[in-house]
Amino acid sequence: MYCRKALIIGLLMAAAASCSEPPTVAGSFLNAGEGALAWTAKLVELGPRPPGSEAHRKQQALVVAALRATGADVEELAFTAQTPLGPVAMKNVIAKFYGASDRIVVISGHYDTLSRSGLHFVGANDGGSSAGLLLQLAEILAERKLQDDVWLAFFDGEESFVQWTGSDHTYGSRHQAAQWSVDGTAARINALINVDMIGDADLRLVYEQQSTPWLRDLVWDVGVRLGYTEVFADRSPAYIADDHVSFLQLGIPAVDLIDFEYGGGNSYWHNEHDTMDKLSAASFGVMLHVVLETIEQLAARP
Ligand SMILES: [Zn+2]
Repeated sequence: MYCRKALIIGLLMAAAASCSEPPTVAGSFLNAGEGALAWTAKLVELGPRPPGSEAHRKQQALVVAALRATGADVEELAFTAQTPLGPVAMKNVIAKFYGASDRIVVISGHYDTLSRSGLHFVGANDGGSSAGLLLQLAEILAERKLQDDVWLAFFDGEESFVQWTGSDHTYGSRHQAAQWSVDGTAARINALINVDMIGDADLRLVYEQQSTPWLRDLVWDVGVRLGYTEVFADRSPAYIADDHVSFLQLGIPAVDLIDFEYGGGNSYWHNEHDTMDKLSAASFGVMLHVVLETIEQLAARP
């Protein structure tokens, strides 16, 4: 694992594996990254945000109000998920920015946080970062002229309630996929880009293998071309189950952008170490730059 700090020290590869040097981000995207980081902090301040909790309801109200303030067309899809712990009220939130074509690009992420008894989990990166990025993206898209529609999807219930087996996961995205399948939306979706755990100061994305190859490679090519070679260095095969799978099953091109090395050995994942101090504005800035450029590239495709 490469990082700048290790080069300066010039020894101890073990130090390289645990260092967290933020990526260098281009110009105005650092400001945008700071905006996304601030949104994430605002959500994390609410505390643990599992579906059905009071903090999650406050988060839903905050997200909906913030999206409405951008002028987006905001849709709330409330439903009851049948979980191993019984029925749980959930809600997906979709912010729609309209373009000139008939096609839709969806940028999605989950905004619920993991719930386990005895664990105080605020999910700064896992649940927080995806929602914070989407809220900042909404502010940017509101100022842009779009070719394709861009829909921002906040999925509820990505996390399992007991264990990530069977259907105890991705409740929101599976519900959304079913809805878009019956109402005809699915046929208009050109691509879906899912983000998850993308705020890590030491950002390196997984080259996820279930993801649609042409779309994954489009994102990787954009990332490398924009100079974020360390973030997009990995091309080793790995499989991550995430919300994108719900749409792949409908035949919608989809990619999962996830960093699954959060702390050495993924040691900050799903525990009390997933806090704001592990995140960086630069990482959010990189992701915003790459996602916005990918939207442009998708619009240019026939
Ligand atoms: Zn998680």
